[in-house]
Amino acid sequence: MLIHRSTKVLISKAAWCTYNTYRKGLSFPSQYSKTETLFNSSRDNILEYQRTRVRQLIQHAVQTTPYYRDLLIDIGLSHDDLTQLFSTDSTDISIIPPLEKKSIRDQLHNLLSDISPDQKRIENATGGSTGTPLKFYQDRTYWNQRNLSVYYFDRWGGWDFGEPQLVIWGAPADVNTGSRWKQKLNRYWRNQFWLDGFQLTETAMHTTFEKMRQWQPKTILAYPSSLHQFAKYLNEQNLKPNWDLKGIISSAEMLYPHYRTLAESTFGTKIYNRYGGREVGLIAMECCEGRMHINCRDIFFEIDSDDPYRIPGDILITQLNNWTMPFIRYRIGDIGRLSNERCPCGNQLPVLAELLGRSTATFRTKSGMLVHGGYFTQQFYNIEGVSQFQLIQDSFEECTLKLVINGEWTEKTCDEIVLKIQEKLGTDVSVDVKYVEEIPLSRSGKREFTISRLT
Ligand SMILES: [Zn+2]
Repeated sequence: MLIHRSTKVLISKAAWCTYNTYRKGLSFPSQYSKTETLFNSSRDNILEYQRTRVRQLIQHAVQTTPYYRDLLIDIGLSHDDLTQLFSTDSTDISIIPPLEKKSIRDQLHNLLSDISPDQKRIENATGGSTGTPLKFYQDRTYWNQRNLSVYYFDRWGGWDFGEPQLVIWGAPADVNTGSRWKQKLNRYWRNQFWLDGFQLTETAMHTTFEKMRQWQPKTILAYPSSLHQFAKYLNEQNLKPNWDLKGIISSAEMLYPHYRTLAESTFGTKIYNRYGGREVGLIAMECCEGRMHINCRDIFFEIDSDDPYRIPGDILITQLNNWTMPFIRYRIGDIGRLSNERCPCGNQLPVLAELLGRSTATFRTKSGMLVHGGYFTQQFYNIEGVSQFQLIQDSFEECTLKLVINGEWTEKTCDEIVLKIQEKLGTDVSVDVKYVEEIPLSRSGKREFTISRLT
């Protein structure tokens, strides 16, 4: 088995090299090494690189897309003003209005660059966890650059080319791609084993653990909610990995503290939180010191707040490599706050102090206070009697609480939960408790504990 494992690693390393040479050309090793050098360089150096890329992107967008051409006229900005924007050392593009999801839906074709040929455009879409999927276009350059960054940051989490990896993934768009044999082949050469986050039956989890024992993956890449479910099952069955895992990369969903605690103790390794979006790629990655570093090579990151270092606000992303459809100051739908600390890990990339998750999971009170959904998740996840829950804010006055309960449930627990919600949202808020059999995952395969319909 050991020989088989190491042979497979060698085959997979060679396959990765072939794949990257095919996609990115013979210069792949030097491209990767340049990427690594830039990410590891001084803060001044990387911010200077970023400033140049922001300037080039904005000029390209204004010159070749009807949307940004018109926007410049609407805000009364001349080409000279635009040049002025970049004459200083700072990168302040706040004069450009944020790009909203609605504008992408309404003006999809106006956002496309005139000089990007149809056949070079690659269609993509978000799963639409909160409703309609969002369609957009990217190109090969975007994907090549995105992958280089993913390789770099995933290595922080213990991954390396060819090393075996367990993938616990939920997104139907990724799980059900192409024909079955193509999918199998892809997973084989990448040395990955997949556990479908949508089908986490006890049998599937048991079989996966048995396979893991034989095949000893070095890392796990997972949706945190699916990882949590898997870790819970292993704990209940008293099954513990008896080999060394280098790390777990958590991606695509909010990583709640209780997910982290259980998975880290079950698998005996650290979780590295990876934050990104299909629209813009990898945004930030957690380092060994537990800080989220911002991917300044591919992204210009802003917080829509009067004081982004103290007051959390909407995250705005400018994607620097997708010139087919420029995303400038895109309101991605998450809330965060910046940090001005230098991380003790030594990496100079700026740090994201807090990632508070989806703005659609953030509740609002009549008095104007914001309550992040994570507050309720923290309060309710370990209450005896509750197997699953989902809290929905329907209006300022009304909430719906869906509960899947078990044998430990009492009416007293119910009163306590309602009281906790009212304490935070207002004593006059009515909470409609509904007992359900199951709380389905969202259409994008994500678990949503809190939803606000007020956004
Ligand atoms: Zn760090």
